[in-house]
Amino acid sequence: MTSKTDLAPITVAHGDGIGPEIMRASLDVLEAAGARLAIEEIKIGKEVYESGHSSGIADSSWESLRRTKVFFKGPITTPQGGGYKSLNVTVRKSLGLFANVRPTVAYSPYVKSLHPGMDVLIVRENEEDLYAGIEHRQTQDVVQCLKLVSRPGIERICRYAFEVARTTGRKKVSCFSKDNIMKLTDGLFHKVFDEIAAEYPDIENDHWIIDIGAAKLAAEPHRFDVIVTSNLYGDIISDIASEVSGSVGMGPSSNIGASCAMFEAVHGSAPDIAGQDLANPSGLLLAGVMMLNHLGQFDIAETVQNAWLRTIEDGVHTGDIEHPSPDARKVGTKAFAEAVIKRLGQKPQQLPAVSFEGGVEPISIPDLIPQAPQNKKLVGVDMFVESRDTPSHIAHRLIQQTNDACGLSMISNRGVKVWPNGFPETFCTDHWRCRFMSGLDTDFSGTDIAGLLGRLADAGVEVVKTENLYQFDKEAGYSMVQGQ
Ligand code: NAD
Repeated sequence: MTSKTDLAPITVAHGDGIGPEIMRASLDVLEAAGARLAIEEIKIGKEVYESGHSSGIADSSWESLRRTKVFFKGPITTPQGGGYKSLNVTVRKSLGLFANVRPTVAYSPYVKSLHPGMDVLIVRENEEDLYAGIEHRQTQDVVQCLKLVSRPGIERICRYAFEVARTTGRKKVSCFSKDNIMKLTDGLFHKVFDEIAAEYPDIENDHWIIDIGAAKLAAEPHRFDVIVTSNLYGDIISDIASEVSGSVGMGPSSNIGASCAMFEAVHGSAPDIAGQDLANPSGLLLAGVMMLNHLGQFDIAETVQNAWLRTIEDGVHTGDIEHPSPDARKVGTKAFAEAVIKRLGQKPQQLPAVSFEGGVEPISIPDLIPQAPQNKKLVGVDMFVESRDTPSHIAHRLIQQTNDACGLSMISNRGVKVWPNGFPETFCTDHWRCRFMSGLDTDFSGTDIAGLLGRLADAGVEVVKTENLYQFDKEAGYSMVQGQ
C-alpha cells in the first residue's frame, strides 16, 4: 500500500490489437483522477516475438515486473493452432498469479443485459489444468494434452474463493467441475472443495457439473454468487458471464499471487476492431480500479468508478453495448474516456455509487496445510503402443513378452476396453493403452518395467509412452477404462 503522496511503481504493457487504444484511454482517466503511479512501460507480445524474442518478453521486462510487482496489461494476441505459446499464461505462471478473479455485473437498464441484477464473481484457477500446455503427438493419428492439477493448487484456489466470499460479504461459493467423467483430476477438485467448504460454515456451498452449471449461469445467473473452478472452465464461463451481463468489453479481471498482481480486461485483443477507435475501454478501466484498490489508492478508485457509472448512466457508450434511451450517445474509445474524465467527482444518480472509504479489505492469501505422507505402491504400468494391427494380434504379441512379475490385463483404445472381449463395432485408432499389472504376490519395481520395455523394443513393438500405476494407501491412483 502507498501513502497519500508516494507514487506507486507499476509496470504497464499496452498489448496488441485494441490494447494500445484502451490502455491509453484507461491511463488518461486514471491520471486525470489523480492516480499516484510511477509507470514503467514494457513491450510484450506479438511485436516482441517478431523482433526475435521467442518468449515474447525481454529479460528487462521481467526485471521490471519483479521490481514493481504490479502489472497493468493490455490484451495480447496469441496465434491459434500453432506459433508461439501464450504469453498471458507464461506471465501468470511465472509470477505465481494463482487466482484469476473476474467480477461480472449487469448495469441495466443503462447497458442492455439478458440478466438485470446479475452480480457473479468467478474465481478461476490460473496456473494448472490443460493450460500447462504440455502436448505431444504420439502416433500418426493421435495427439495428447496433459491435464495436470495438484492438491496444493486446488486447495489454494478453493480457500481463496471462500476468503473472497467472506471478505466481500458474499453468501455462497459454487464449485464447477466435470468429476463424473474425470474422476481423478476433477474428482480431486470437487473433493478438496468439499474439504475446504467445511472450514467455512458461514458460507453456503454447492457443486455443479460444468456443462449444466455453464447453462444455468447463462440462463439463471441469480443462482450464483461466487464460482470457483479450474483454468479452462473458468476461462470459458467468464466470457459467457460477461457477454450475458451486457458485453464482453466490460469485464475486468485481477490475477493475484502471493507477491505480484496483474490487472487486465477479460476480453482479448479484438483484432477485428483494432485501430478504429471502436473498442470499449471499460473492462481495462475497471481493472485499473481494482489495481488502485490493490495499491491502497481507494479515494481515486472510488472517484474513477463513480465517474464511469455516471457516464454509462448518462447514456454515453461504445458500440458494443446497447443503451435503451433514445438520447444515448454512441462514441468511440477516446471520446468515452473523455466523457468519464468530464464526470470525475460526480456520482451515479440511479445506479448504486461505490464507496471505498475506509479501504477495501485485502483478501488473505491462504497458507497450505501440509498433508500426511501416503503409502505409495507401484502395482503396474500402462504402455501406450502404436500399431495398425487388431486388438487380438496386439495382445498376442505383448503376452509373449510378459512374465510372472507382470501380465497383460487389458487393452483399450481411446479409453474403451477392446481386449479381452471387445466389440467389433468400436472404432480404433493406431494408439493402444496396454495395461500390465504385477502378479498378485510379487513386488513390482521399475526394473520390471524397464525389462518389459526392453523386451517389447526387441520384439519391434513401438511403445510411445509409459505411465506407472500406483496405489496410494491402497487406493488406485489411475482410472479404470470404460467397459472394465
Ligand atoms: P476477443 O475478446 O478479442 O474478441 C471477441 C469479440 O468481442 C470480437 O468481436 C471483439 O471485437 C469483441 N470485443 C472484445 N473486446 C472488446 C472491447 N473492449 N470493445 C468492443 N468489442 C470487444 O476474443 P478473440 O477474438 O477470441 O481473441 C483475439 C485475440 O486475443 C487472440 O489472439 C486471443 O488469444 C487473445 N486473447 C488475449 C487475452 C488476454 O490478453 N488476456 C484474453 C483473451 C484472448
